[in-house]
Amino acid sequence: MNNILDCSFAEFQSSIQELGESPFRADQIWQWIWQKRCADFSEMTNISKGLREKLGSIYSLHRPVVQVVKKSRDGTIKFLLRLEDGELIETVLIPEKDHYTQCISSQVGCALGCSFCSTAQMGLKRNMSSGEILGQVLVGLNYLDREKSSLPLRNIVYMGMGEPLLNWPRVRQSLEVLRDPRGLNFSYRRVTLSTVGIPGKLEEFAATGLASLAVSLHAPDQELRSRIMPKASALVSVDQLIDILTSLPLRPRQRITVEYVLIGGVNDEIKQARELNRLLSHLKAKINLIALNPAPEIDYLRPDQERILAFERYLWDKGQTVHLRKGKGCDIEAACGQLRKHSRKNEAGGQEPF
Ligand code: SAH
Repeated sequence: MNNILDCSFAEFQSSIQELGESPFRADQIWQWIWQKRCADFSEMTNISKGLREKLGSIYSLHRPVVQVVKKSRDGTIKFLLRLEDGELIETVLIPEKDHYTQCISSQVGCALGCSFCSTAQMGLKRNMSSGEILGQVLVGLNYLDREKSSLPLRNIVYMGMGEPLLNWPRVRQSLEVLRDPRGLNFSYRRVTLSTVGIPGKLEEFAATGLASLAVSLHAPDQELRSRIMPKASALVSVDQLIDILTSLPLRPRQRITVEYVLIGGVNDEIKQARELNRLLSHLKAKINLIALNPAPEIDYLRPDQERILAFERYLWDKGQTVHLRKGKGCDIEAACGQLRKHSRKNEAGGQEPF
């Protein structure tokens, strides 16, 4: 049976019309699903019983099940979620001053094998469906409601497990529902897709205008990038990537986020900050520096705080906009793929109905 969360609005609307219903019913039901977040067709009280039963015979309404929730001392909340076929994925709620940002996954595992990333080590298991991607947001919203959180969920970042542009058709559909005022109703500035940069797909994504763009660069030259990110850098060279990024249509005041994970003794020298500054000189960019989140399975170390600050200061002095992302949730293994890596599939624990 089709999960209704996997439908696009257009698809659902035509199926409603095939049932002989007015298109307006599709809007109503969409609101029940995405805005009231009901868990069952029977809760849709302004829909006739007959239609609810028909819907129930055509569609399932399945959301990911919370297997583990971990709350960090700094307020970061990490969820391990079980999908319908038993696969486990991660999503994280990150508290900011006046809102939460949710980091969501787009694939079970990842094919790219970046050397600093825990998800890389499991390889790619499968793509996630649009409904599975969006199900994470439903879980996040329901959790915050249940906890009576005073901070709203405002930003969504596709920075969890997987490479979103290698699952582009489903990621695109999830972005459409996220942005749709009848759906989850996030504005494009509140949604960011993070990618290593897949030529072709990058241009397609930018042309949709569905979300802001962040690119995982992590090295200022091809030689170093191919050491840290061997598969990603075989798909596109650093120079080609910068050329593509420079040619993308941007909205007024929009800037591309360049992500740079600082790895001790690997890419954290001032020489590399200098190269990075030069490389980005013609790009409307802001730089997100992220200190490596270490893990037992990763062979790298986080640089000393002094080196991190010196790298940041160099770029700042050159006039770059730099944000140093604090490694939140270190005590709960919040970096990409770390919680899943350290849990077992049959781990005892909550199967909470969020
Ligand atoms: N494939 C996409 C989305 C995955 S998220 C991409 O690469 O952009 C990738 C982000 O996770 C990286 O930019 C980095 O910020 C973060 N990341 C992964 N492993 C990390 C680690 N060990 N420490 C800190 N950040 C990490």
